[in-house]
This record gives sequence, structure tokens and C-alpha cells, in this order.
Amino acid sequence: MNNGYTQLSNGVQMPWVGLGVWTPEREDATEAIKRALEIGYRSIDTASAYGNEEQVGRAVAESGIPRKDLFITTKVGNGDQGYESTLRAFESSMEKLQMEYLDLYLIHWPVEGKSLDTWRALELLYKQQRVRAIGVSNFHIKDLEALLSVAEIVPMVNQIEFHPLLTHMELRAYCKQHGIQMEAWSPLMKGMLSGNKTLDDIARSHGKTVAQIILRWDIQSGFVTIPKSFNATRLLENISIFDFTLTEEEMGRIALLNKNEKMPMPDLSKFRNL
Ligand code: NDP
Repeated sequence: MNNGYTQLSNGVQMPWVGLGVWTPEREDATEAIKRALEIGYRSIDTASAYGNEEQVGRAVAESGIPRKDLFITTKVGNGDQGYESTLRAFESSMEKLQMEYLDLYLIHWPVEGKSLDTWRALELLYKQQRVRAIGVSNFHIKDLEALLSVAEIVPMVNQIEFHPLLTHMELRAYCKQHGIQMEAWSPLMKGMLSGNKTLDDIARSHGKTVAQIILRWDIQSGFVTIPKSFNATRLLENISIFDFTLTEEEMGRIALLNKNEKMPMPDLSKFRNL
């Protein structure tokens, strides 16, 4: 299944839909990733903080899919931020992933006093061609302004919480102006949007599920999306969004759902290095 690609500012092609592999319960992701690759996913989003880079590496190696056909993202954790420590963290991630190069390396969260040094390390890795693209996550306008005031390379991606209740209109305009591709984390709001009447009505009129409507809305809004599912039926459902289009009117109705509402933060003490 061809699931469509967007082109980053440096020309690199990134799939519109990828598989997120963060699980609060720390479920083993290996089988789900293998299943996802079998049904057509080509992009996997992990992070050193998720503790499952080895599982991503194992699933990719066992899939037999040529490395050049995949798009692998990982992130430098907060505890590793800084110049030298980021370079070390990168080598550690690559060893766990069993890969020679990475497609996208992100700063997981802005850390005051450290992220600018972290960015210099990412720029070096990019220049050395160890990563095909570099970017940030959870960066708001003030964080991006600070970064852009010293950066040699403008981030290619900004991965943020994005769903119909949180639409970040100002940040989107800023990123668009700077050629930064937006990417949605927790696009399904972890299932909290099931039962929403507007989404239910639109889903019914297209013969699709609410999840498919949200994910289609993501890509029509210009966001790469990375829903997490370890369930075979939902994995297929989440990538089957390229055979219909939401109308302008439907896009507008979904836009009206925005409440600038973030999801409750999980207990971060469970996560290594976040
Ligand atoms: P999602 O919004 O992707 O929701 C995942 C939940 O929804 C799971 O419980 C999953 O269960 C369920 N689900 C998946 N598909 C469907 C469907 N079609 N119908 C109904 N339920 C469904 O939340 P996440 O927080 O996992 O976000 C996705 C990814 O974003 C993460 O895995 C991670 O890679 C990334 N992320 C990045 C962050 C950052 O700071 N940069 C922060 C948080 C997430 P099941 O597995 O049983 O299908």
C-alpha cells in the first residue's frame, strides 16, 4: 500500500503516516512493528525515553524490508541534552536500533540552557550524514525563536501534541513560514474523542471510523501523523485513509472543535530519561 509522502525542506521524503510506539505500560512493540511493516507502514516513531529502540531495531531487521525504504525517527531525551552528551546518546540509540544512519533525529522537549547545545550536536550529525533530517518536538514559538536565533540549520520537523481539541493555529503559521513540517503526537487523543458527535457524523457520512476521520484531517491540515496501535485491525484502519477526502465544510466543522485542550500528562517518573 502506498501511504503517501511529504517532502521536508531539505528534499527528504517522509511518510504522512507512521507508527508511534510509545506505551505507558511498556508493552513489547516488536510484533506490532513487524505487523505494521507487513501491512504497509514505512515510518516508525520511537525515542530513547520509550525504552524500545532495540525492539524497533529487531523488528526492522527481521522484516527483511530494505533500510532505504524505511523512515526511522528517534529522539534525544532530556537527561542527555547538551553537546557531547547528545553525541553519545545518538551513538547509543544507533547501537540499539542496529542502524548505520537515522532518518530523523528530534530534540524530545526543549530544556532551558541546554537545547541550543543539543541542536549544535544535531547539526553536526546532519553534516556528517549520520541523519537525513533533524528537528524538534514540543517546541513552541518562543522555543523556536531562541533556536533560530543561533541555528545554522532550520529544524525540518516539529512534533507536537495535535488533535481536534488542540490545533495550534499560531504555531502552525510560524512553522509554515519557516518551512518546518508539523507532526502530530497523540493524534487520536488516546481514544478520548470517540463519541464526539461532529466526528461521528462525518465518519458515518464517509463510511469511515472516527479515528480515520481524525487521521485524514491531520494530513489534510498538513500534519504528518503517528497513531500508536498494537492491534492488527486498528493498524490497518489507521493507514487506510488515502481513499477519501474531507470537504472544506467538514474541515471547517472539525476546526470548530478546538478548545486548546492538552491531554493530561502521564506519570513521567515511569520513563527513563525524559
Ligand atoms: P494516540 O492518540 O496515537 O492513541 C493511542 C491509543 O489509541 C492506544 O490506546 C490505541 O490502542 C488506541 N487506538 C489506536 N488506533 C485506534 C483506532 N483506530 N480506534 C480506536 N482506538 C485506537 O496516542 P499516543 O500518545 O500513543 O501518540 C502516538 C505516538 O506519538 C506515540 O506512540 C509516540 O510515538 C508519539 N508521542 C510523542 C510525544 C512527544 O513528546 N514527542 C508524546 C506522546 C506521544 P491499541 O494499541 O489497543 O489500538
